Formats: sequence, structure tokens, C-alpha cells
Amino acid sequence: MAAFGIDLGTTYSCISRVDGSTGEPVIIPNEAGEDTTPSVVYFESAYKVQVGADAKNVARTDPDHVVALIKRDMGRKNVQLNFHGLPYTPESVSALILKDLVKSVSRTTGETVESVVITVPAYFGVAERQATRVAGEIAGLDVINVIEEPVAAAMYYGLLTPGANRTILVYDLGGGTFDTTVIKLVDGDVTVVCTDGSHSLGGADWDEAVATYLFDYFVAEEPGAGAEDSEELLQDLMLVAEKLKMSLSVRQTAEQAISFRGRTVRAQLSRAAFEEMTADLLEQTLEITDRTLHTAREKGVDKIDEVLLVGGSTHMPIVFTRLAERVGVTPKRKEPDLAVAKGAALFAVHETARTRLTAADGNGRGRRAAVSAERLADELGVPVGTIEKMQGRKVTTVVPRAFGVIVLEDLPPEPGKPEPEEPAMHLVVEHLLHANTPLPTERVTKQFGTAVDNQREIRIEIWEQAGDVESRQPTDNTNIGEGLIKRLPPLKKGSPVDVTFQMTEGGKLFVEAKELHTGLTLNLELQIGEMTPGQVADARDAVSRLS
Ligand code: ADP
Ligand code: MG
Repeated sequence: MAAFGIDLGTTYSCISRVDGSTGEPVIIPNEAGEDTTPSVVYFESAYKVQVGADAKNVARTDPDHVVALIKRDMGRKNVQLNFHGLPYTPESVSALILKDLVKSVSRTTGETVESVVITVPAYFGVAERQATRVAGEIAGLDVINVIEEPVAAAMYYGLLTPGANRTILVYDLGGGTFDTTVIKLVDGDVTVVCTDGSHSLGGADWDEAVATYLFDYFVAEEPGAGAEDSEELLQDLMLVAEKLKMSLSVRQTAEQAISFRGRTVRAQLSRAAFEEMTADLLEQTLEITDRTLHTAREKGVDKIDEVLLVGGSTHMPIVFTRLAERVGVTPKRKEPDLAVAKGAALFAVHETARTRLTAADGNGRGRRAAVSAERLADELGVPVGTIEKMQGRKVTTVVPRAFGVIVLEDLPPEPGKPEPEEPAMHLVVEHLLHANTPLPTERVTKQFGTAVDNQREIRIEIWEQAGDVESRQPTDNTNIGEGLIKRLPPLKKGSPVDVTFQMTEGGKLFVEAKELHTGLTLNLELQIGEMTPGQVADARDAVSRLS
């Protein structure tokens, strides 16, 4: 039973396992021989799907049956897709990508993938993490755990050595997203200090800049060809632009033929010109990095020891140069687009070792005896030294975003105007848990009051931060659950209600609301984004119909 690590990326995905003889993680390439597979699904018919580069190529000719960037919809309950009369969810589409990765393993190595660790961005909330687990279950996999991409990357870079103390900045520029995370290692235990980023900034924006350049170049060279309104030409150029961009990571100039209605123009692009036309994009990432370092400083991190480059877009040489200048630390770059999957493979061994080797800890009564490192190494197909290295290492994670309740708040009287009899009120989100609090959290209690006299019910709505920063505005938050305290006797406005939040290490949120006068209590346990076992089974049947 080998354990695998999967980087389920917004634009590219990748699968890895720890090699049995060297103990090093290796990538299992897809059937086309590539290390990474585009996270794109083409619904060819009710019975057939294609995943990867083929699906990506179809996107232009049959866009209505192609799904890309599904990761952005993970955890959203209201996203329902339909192809050839059949319903799909973000979880089931992601399951198709996972199944494709797993299939390439069985085709290329003959191994069956059962247990996996899947990575998620550090900013993923409870719903998104749960949706990722569910995607794995729909794909028929045993999901040992989901772990943060930057932590996986740090693991691969070999920085999570037991007993070590350092602070690491992970700069992850992928295809559709940008993430920065600060990780602290204290005596070898990992804590995510803070995380920031943009969900709408990534390699595709660099592609677009190049595509626009090529487009304008063609139109200027061939003004009579009628290309200026051609959406089709621009779409074609997006795919071409990505290849051109990649070649500029290794050479100083690249040339590209652009053909439209029988006319062909050859465009040249130098790396310097490319860097100039995309300088504002890079600057945005550097500003977010500054913001992250600022947050980290507020949390007591005043020195960054290591800067790690992660994500395919950090192959661009300018990223390395500019980030080094900005942060004052020479970044490390080692297979940036494979690092997350490889780190996840190491984690898959780590997690299995942690649970299996410590099964008899504590009082041990009635529990399965821990297996020996030798036996586990044998079962997992990894060298025993790898298991031993994993022992005694702990990973702490943090609350990914702020969580709170929505409350009616009196508006202060407007200056200069007479005070109204009843103060005007507005809705705000009061956060009880803030982003980056280490998990598991303590119980956090805040007192609120009933909104009006003789209120018969109290509605408790749980809201989660939706934007990049914490905000009290309801529109910057998402409602993720609710409940009612019912049958209250008549109470005065402002009668106290204690609300308590606590989040477990696994990201499960417990909420308790207690009306203090009556002692009436509401308890909520948020299983947000989770499907029932029946729904998972149905989705599994639906995706296994597809080949
Ligand atoms: P994801 O965002 O899904 O995690 P990756 O980290 O693999 O995916 O990043 C994909 C992005 O990296 C794409 O935009 C791709 O064009 C870009 N990329 C991959 N290789 C290179 C390269 N050699 N030079 C520049 N960009 C690259
Ligand atoms: Mg990624």
C-alpha cells in the first residue's frame, strides 16, 4: 500500500510518491510523459471525458463542454454544472482530475493508488478543505489528510528538519493564483504564521499580456486582414503565448509565427521586452509579499531565514531577481512546479507514520499496537530511514480565515441631527476567530445582546471571511451556517447571549450560543461543504461511468 502525494492545482496537477530504494519523492508522469497535467476536463459525451492537455486544446473549439479553473469553485455549494444532461459539482469535476492522475500511475507503474495526501492553498477555508477531501473520496481514494501547499513545499525543500528553528517565506506564483505564506519552524514543529495572496493573479495574466502584444503586432503589420475584432485569434494566441513565455524563461529572445486568414506575420519578443510589459504584474506580487511580511512582523516574526520559490511561474528568471532585491534574502528554487506534489508524497509517508507508529500512545487500552518502523516501511514501500526521519515531527496549522456571527449594531447618531427615538441599525460581522490563530483554538466567547424587546427567537448566523482581509461588512463575508434559539420568554432588548467558537485541528468549527437568562443553548457543528455518504457514493458512481 504505497501512499501518494497529489498537488491538485488550479491550472496544473501533479502526482508523486516516495521511491522505495532512495527514499526521495519522484513524480509519476502522465501518459504523454509530462510531469504536470493541465487541470482541465472535457466532457466529450455522457460516457467520455478527457483530462489534461487534450482537454485544454479543445477549450477553443468546444468551450461549452470544457471546465478549467474548477479549484476556484471548491467549497461553493451553489455551483452546479451540467453536461450532456448530467449534473456535476466542483467536487466531482475535481474527482475526474484526481482519477486521471491515478490512472496514469497504474498505466505507467502498474501500481494501484489507494491512500493519498492532497494539497490545498493555506487560505482555503473549512468548506474548501472539506470539498477537496470529498473530491478524493468521489475518486475512490482514501484521503489520509489534506495539507497546505506551502508546508508541503517546505517539506520538499528539506527545511522541516526535526529540532530546527527558522522562519520561511513561501512565494507561490502558479497559473491562476498567487500565494505568499510565512511558516515558522520551532524545534522542528511547523506553524503557518500568516498567509496572503490573490486569487486572480497568476501565469495566465502573463500569457494574456503576451497574447495582447502578439495580437496588436499582427493588427499593426496586417491592418487590412480584419483581425482587430477577432476573438478567435486572441484565444488562439493565448495558448501560443504560454509556450512563448515558457521559452523566454530559458532564452533571451523567441520568435512566433502568427497566422490569420492566410496571412502570416513573424513576431519577435525579447525577454527584456516581456519583462517590461509584465512588470506591473510582478510588482503586484511583490506588494502582496510586503503586506505578508508586514503581517508576519506584527506577529513577532522579524527575520526571514529562507525564501522558497514555488509554482510554475517562478521559472521566470526575473521573479528570482526582483524578489531577492525586495526581501534581501536569496531565494531557493528547486523544481518549483513539482515541489508541492513531492512534499505531499513525503507527507503521505509522514502522516501514515504518525498515525500508525503512535497508535498505542497514551493509555493504549484497547487500541491497536503501534507497528514497527520496519514493518511500516515495508508496507509503504519506502526505506526504513525515511520513516525514522519522520518520527516526532509535528505540524501545526492555523485558522485559515476569520469566522464570526452577524449582528445588528446601533448606528451612532448622525452629528448635527436630533437623536432618533429608535437608533438606526445595521448588520455587521463580528469575528470571534481571526485568521492565523494556531489550531486547535481555545474556546473564544463574546457576549452579544438581543436586538429588540420581547424577541421570541435568536437567529445565529455563522459567517466566514471571504475577501483577502478581515472586514465587518457582510458583503466581504460568506454565510456558512445558521441555527435558532427558539421559544424565548419576553426579554428586554440587549439581554445577554454568549457565543463561543472553537475550531479543531482538523478544521471543524464548533459554535455554542447561550441565552443567559433562560440558559437556552444552541450548538452547531459546521460540516460545511461536506456531502452525505450517500451523495458521495452517487457522485462516485457518476464519475466511474465516465472513461
Ligand atoms: P498551479 O497554479 O495550478 O498550481 P503551476 O504551479 O504548475 O500550477 O503553475 C502553472 C503556471 O506556470 C502556468 O501559468 C504556466 O504557464 C507557468 N509555467 C510553467 N512552466 C513555466 C516556465 N518554464 N516559464 C514560465 N512560466 C511557466
Ligand atoms: Mg500550485
